[in-house]
Amino acid sequence: MTLLGLDLEGQVIRPPAEAESLLLQVTLGCSHNRCAFCPAYKGKRFGFKDPERVRAAIGHAAANLPELRRVFLCDGDALILPQQRLESILGDIRQHLPWVTRVNAYANAKALARKTDAELVRLREAGLGTVYLGLESGLDEVLSAMGKWGGVDEHLRQASRAKAAGLKLSVTVLLGLAGRGGPGSPAEAHARATGRALSAMDPEQASALALMVAPGTPLYERQQRGEFLPQDDAGLLRELHWLLEETHLSRGLFFSNHASNPLRLRLRLPRDKDAGLAAVRAALAGDAPVVPQAYRRL
Ligand code: SF4
Repeated sequence: MTLLGLDLEGQVIRPPAEAESLLLQVTLGCSHNRCAFCPAYKGKRFGFKDPERVRAAIGHAAANLPELRRVFLCDGDALILPQQRLESILGDIRQHLPWVTRVNAYANAKALARKTDAELVRLREAGLGTVYLGLESGLDEVLSAMGKWGGVDEHLRQASRAKAAGLKLSVTVLLGLAGRGGPGSPAEAHARATGRALSAMDPEQASALALMVAPGTPLYERQQRGEFLPQDDAGLLRELHWLLEETHLSRGLFFSNHASNPLRLRLRLPRDKDAGLAAVRAALAGDAPVVPQAYRRL
């Protein structure tokens, strides 16, 4: 994974769609950091990045990156920054990098809930474009078992507030999060409920990742103790089919093209839905190749 970043501290991640963006680190880690499946910032103490270092990174980009068009604010939940500081960073980007056309960030439900409606509007006016929200599952019991902040309704509420403020919404969900199971199992309930929640959110973009249980996470410990059995490839494909069946976007992109996925799809919904479902069925029937486990990663 190529990262275009300045003065980055510790491990930094970004959505696949931000591959061309300058990674501007404004927080360190994640203020929640308790999701059982998430290896991203375990061992990284949460904090706000020193404003001087953020300003210096922007200054460096202003002097050296005239081709730069996109900036991604990281780490895990940049929106948790106090409003004034966020507005000041967006203002610095607009002033010193006037050629930048898109500034995006991760935003978990907790961070969105802390902002007022007016503050979200001000962030959009200051230049914030897309917020990436991790829904992960449309089932409360799965979210609760995984230690997510907030239930499904809370995620729907925060997604709706972000959209009402004029922010673009990109929502991530996780295939396999209910563990191994076939038709009639909690895995089907998880996939179908997640599709219905995506439909209710109706984001500009929805991305389905496949769960990979990472060492160092609480979920890995559960797996070691035999309390969590990961979904197999056929199960992940079936979940993708159930999810897609239930996902009705008025006009949006649906991706399963993250490096963790056995089948990489890039669909424009509703136009490509039938083609997407057919592609999943072909993979399930063995008529189309899936990405081998060894080539998948987080
Ligand atoms: S909120 Fe996001 S970054 Fe933070 S622990 Fe959960 S999944 Fe990881």
